[in-house]
Amino acid sequence: MAVPFRRTSKTRKNKRRTHYKLSVPGMVRCPQCDAMKLAHRVCKECGYYKGAEVVNND
Ligand SMILES: [Zn+2]
Repeated sequence: MAVPFRRTSKTRKNKRRTHYKLSVPGMVRCPQCDAMKLAHRVCKECGYYKGAEVVNND
């Protein structure tokens, strides 16, 4: 099995890892209740989607 000839320096390792990022989920403001919600999903605060109530959690 091949073995690395030189160890990877901290700088090289860190530079490689600059691409390791967490992506932020697509969040938008609910037009009904103004709470932050995931895009293309029913609002979990008010249960509205596309201007109509589709889920009732009361
Ligand atoms: Zn809402």
